Amino acid sequence: MASKRIVLKFGSGILTRKDAPEPDPVQLRKLVEAVALLKRAGHSVVVVSSGAVASGLKPLDFSQRPSDVTTLQALAAVGQTHLMHAYESLLRDHGLHVAQLLVTHEDFENADRSPRVKAVLERLMEFSQVVPVINENDSVAIEELRYGDNDKLSSRVARFWGADVLILLTSAPGLLRDMKKPEEGPIPIVEDVDAVIHHAEEEKSALGTGGMISKLRAVQDAVHGGVECIIASGRHAEQIPGLIDGHGICTRFPASRS
Ligand code: GLU
Repeated sequence: MASKRIVLKFGSGILTRKDAPEPDPVQLRKLVEAVALLKRAGHSVVVVSSGAVASGLKPLDFSQRPSDVTTLQALAAVGQTHLMHAYESLLRDHGLHVAQLLVTHEDFENADRSPRVKAVLERLMEFSQVVPVINENDSVAIEELRYGDNDKLSSRVARFWGADVLILLTSAPGLLRDMKKPEEGPIPIVEDVDAVIHHAEEEKSALGTGGMISKLRAVQDAVHGGVECIIASGRHAEQIPGLIDGHGICTRFPASRS
């Protein structure tokens, strides 16, 4: 099987417990196991991980997520170190090391900075035992804190790095056929994401919250940049390696170059 460049995006909603806003160590362990399996299969893996804010709640004695942005930034500053500590110790069990990259959207736009980010990412990937974990640098930038939970960041990283596949792991099993009937499951393949977004914007309730629209916009950006996308449930981390081989419950968006 050919080695692929894979970006995995872990949103806050799948890193935390279902009943509380705090990080769930069991869930994180399962996600890291999936990363390790992909690495063992010879793939290159980059993780785009949220969870900094969530990881800062307990140390700073918050029982729920606050709404003001400066406090969210403060929580992220504390939580990011806890998050990385968790990745570091879980990856070490698989003989892997975490590399932390904190970036802003400007880092991809600025002509001086962007080649440097690219060069260090490529250099890191030469070390097969390293897994880069990228997050927005929330203490200096607030775009993802306010709008995206790293959806946009993940598509940018995927295009920038020339990824083959971007997998957005979320709390839904994919893009549902009918939000009101989740038992009908997700649409297996979407060839025209532009049409789906158009429909979603016209009829927001058809796809639920803006959360899925934010994901679809990220998918749109990535597929037009030549990256295949998959939206799947992060609550079933065991199916992640199979997704790369065409199996599993998910929605697939083939790459296009329009
Ligand atoms: N970068 C943020 C984090 O890692 C985004 C997610 C959020 O708003 O909670 O926590």
